[in-house]
Amino acid sequence: MDFDYIVIGSGSAGSPLTARLLDKGMKVLLIEAGKRERIPITRLPAALIHTVGNPRYDWCYKTEPDPTRNGLVEAWPRGKVPGGSSAINGMIFIRGAKQDYDAWEALGNPGWGWKDVLPYFRRMETADNDKDNGVRGGMGPQRVSALRWKHPVSETFLKSFVAAGATFNADMNGVSHEGVAWNQGSTKNGIRASAFDSFVLPKLKDARLRFIDDTVVERVTIKDGRATGVEALQSGNKVSFTARRGVVLCAGSINSPQLLMLSGIGDPVELKKHGITPLVDSPEVGKNLLEHPGLYALAEMKVPTANRMARPLRGALAFGEWLFRRRGVMSVPTAQLIAFIRSRPELEYTDLQFHLFPFGLAQTKTKLEVPKADLVTILMNINHSKSVGHLELRSKDPHEKVAIFARMLDHPDDVETLLGGIAWIRKICAQPPFSKDMIRFLDLPAEGSSREEEIAYLRRSTVPFFHPVGTCRMGPDDTAVVRPDLKVRGVEGLWVADASIMPRHISGNTNATAIMIGDKASDLIHA
Ligand SMILES: Cc1cc2nc3c(=O)[nH]c(=O)nc-3n(C[C@H](O)[C@H](O)[C@H](O)COP(=O)(O)OP(=O)(O)OC[C@H]3O[C@@H](n4cnc5c(N)ncnc54)[C@H](O)[C@@H]3O)c2cc1C
Repeated sequence: MDFDYIVIGSGSAGSPLTARLLDKGMKVLLIEAGKRERIPITRLPAALIHTVGNPRYDWCYKTEPDPTRNGLVEAWPRGKVPGGSSAINGMIFIRGAKQDYDAWEALGNPGWGWKDVLPYFRRMETADNDKDNGVRGGMGPQRVSALRWKHPVSETFLKSFVAAGATFNADMNGVSHEGVAWNQGSTKNGIRASAFDSFVLPKLKDARLRFIDDTVVERVTIKDGRATGVEALQSGNKVSFTARRGVVLCAGSINSPQLLMLSGIGDPVELKKHGITPLVDSPEVGKNLLEHPGLYALAEMKVPTANRMARPLRGALAFGEWLFRRRGVMSVPTAQLIAFIRSRPELEYTDLQFHLFPFGLAQTKTKLEVPKADLVTILMNINHSKSVGHLELRSKDPHEKVAIFARMLDHPDDVETLLGGIAWIRKICAQPPFSKDMIRFLDLPAEGSSREEEIAYLRRSTVPFFHPVGTCRMGPDDTAVVRPDLKVRGVEGLWVADASIMPRHISGNTNATAIMIGDKASDLIHA
């Protein structure tokens, strides 16, 4: 078959893009590095404990030592499976704040303001709480569900959060994201709804679609300034494909910039160092790496938490409940509550996000374990960190992973914001009814600790929330990687459409936004 477009990566953005291009009558080749399973284990929401960190499903990136966090080297999971990271993620579905997109537009990206992206958020989803209120969607392929199971400890935490000063928000994807809310999941009837399952699976029999898995694209072929196709390794064999109208990179924030560099688009000095002939001088490819730095604060409770569900008999019962009724602890995302707050009232909008897990895990030398104690985890992270990292090629071998320089606590303002977040964790947990059920924090510095002690704690405990963005920054200027229409600057017939194009981070987890980017890209690429 000859193709109109080649889409690289069947993740959060690549899946809706493929589906929408097919709807426009285009012939599409969708190439995915990961392998499709006959019975995808990823559909069990609780399976992420098995898939994250497992090379069968995860690219398993490791960062370079981070000098801003005592030289920490850490895992950066990225989905390597149909559905990409949406197939191994925590299933939290959140759009972010209106102000995030208005800021993108204000940076010189017309068409990306809230009024422009809202129609895509609406058309992508079928939400349980579609109230026909002009904000939610009721007809889209992506199911968004209310929690089918709530732990009593989450109710208690919610009450204390409100007592600490936050407002209760009945729909965090509604009119405003601000306040504390029950989580919503990218799940359908208790099963994970990855972007691939939602958008591509229903179209697999479409004669205009060819989907190939287990195939790693090695570079985009560019002739006379135009992208003509790709070279790839398919189950160990070199193959190449061409497309009439062009190629779209949806390989995610780590792999899209890597593929651009391997194809000769990047900083010429860097490219030449690795023996790659520079075709386009694009110095920001791989730069502007933004994350959500944050903490996992564990609290020990006097009351039962979901840690008890991990005991063999309870675990078996919970699995049975999921298998036969699609309900219970295994049918829901890990986070029960989500909150966005302003750490200081004078702020224009929210700067901190919180999640509550009704359980706590312990990291041993080799694996994550569920301890016997009754634990909960309070996650707190910065929405718009000022610290910026970057990626570098290690070599021109497409199968060698890039080097990730996270530098997550580089900017002093981020340390201040996180200190404010620690104060908020203490404030929430000091309010009844949660305070009455809590015994102690496991690792948070004791109240009254010095500023130096708290900063030392931050430097050893701050981690990424697995939301890297920005490495193929969109913008109107001469060093942006893609234009506001997602065209790669300097090449015809080549686009990037995934989380890497975000010019500034969003408030919240990034899956819904990546889906929006893929969906919107279809209209930008093929009107
Ligand atoms: C463990 C984890 C938990 C998370 N939890 C949440 C959450 O609860 N809620 C939320 O909103 N967000 C969450 N995120 C983030 C969110 O899932 C991602 O931001 C989003 O999925 C990114 O979408 P993407 O399209 O940019 O990339 P991806 O979805 O990662 O898709 C990229 C795809 O391209 C493929 N690919 C890459 N290189 C090549 C190549 N050379 N050839 C062929 N194919 C290639 C990959 O295999 C992958 O399928 C989480 C992420 C992780 C890793």
